[in-house]
Amino acid sequence: MRLSLFLLIMTSPASATAAPSLPTGYHLIPGAVPLDSGPDGNSIVIDAPKGLIVVDTGRHPEHAQAVIDYARQQGKPIAAIVNSHWHLDHTTGNWDIRQAYPGVAIYASNALEGALVTFLADSKADAEKALADPKTTQSARDQILRGRSVLDHPERIKPNHIVVKSGKMAIAGRPLDVHLAKIAATEGDVWLYDPKTRVAVVGDLVVDIVPFMDSACPDGWSKALGEVAKVPFTVLIPGHGAVMSRADFAEWRTAYDNFVKCGHSTAGKKTCVDGWSRDAARFIDAAHKDYAREAADYYLETRLRSSAEEQQRFCRPLTAATWRKPA
Ligand SMILES: [Zn+2]
Repeated sequence: MRLSLFLLIMTSPASATAAPSLPTGYHLIPGAVPLDSGPDGNSIVIDAPKGLIVVDTGRHPEHAQAVIDYARQQGKPIAAIVNSHWHLDHTTGNWDIRQAYPGVAIYASNALEGALVTFLADSKADAEKALADPKTTQSARDQILRGRSVLDHPERIKPNHIVVKSGKMAIAGRPLDVHLAKIAATEGDVWLYDPKTRVAVVGDLVVDIVPFMDSACPDGWSKALGEVAKVPFTVLIPGHGAVMSRADFAEWRTAYDNFVKCGHSTAGKKTCVDGWSRDAARFIDAAHKDYAREAADYYLETRLRSSAEEQQRFCRPLTAATWRKPA
């Protein structure tokens, strides 16, 4: 047994090193980034004196159900949700969980408010167009309708505990360091550090295959990664992808910073895409190689290489008055 394990380790390429294991009291319900439908973020379930804390609740009903099933199996109620950010692949499941556990406390920044009247208002308009198109498949329709239901009734997913600044908090009776990174992957990213277990839960400040920059201020995001690096975590759970060690995070952060730097430089676009694919290679599985390249190309186009004004779109609070629909 020992020998075969040894051989397995010795013969595995670096990319197959095992993810660090989570401490007792932590359970990961992995999200996914399918190539043919919207992603689900990772959900992290943390044991707490008053029940369970769930960080991020996914998009699809199956994902939210897996979270609820796990809680039932544990025989503990979901006492609190923490949303790392407002993206619907991390918040839509709030509604499923709230229906199962109506007293659930939901912690998040207030960034959803600005997003609802800007980015998400545009998403809703796009959803209406897709629904009107007879070519839209039934499964795509189901997905769109689920997203629209929470956009039509945002109170279903809204926080009832707004995180306004970083500090120590007791969530469901468990002491945690709650961090608020303003103007990063979104206008308000919440991430957690648990000093007891030295686990950091960072939402989409880390996404294995490619940083999702749809609503990002790339330089603010870089600063937030610097804040994460300052805490003495040993295990880090990203918004998408496998659990990381400190060394993994450092490598991913370098890849991120190189990509942004390349984006701001005069280097050819292909150089920057190649750079990301190379620097982050260890975090990109074979199935997502092309996806990561296409996404990197798209974010160069829309965020890092767009007009000076467009580059600043998400580097200030989102308001209906200042929002212009992207071209
Ligand atoms: Zn996400």
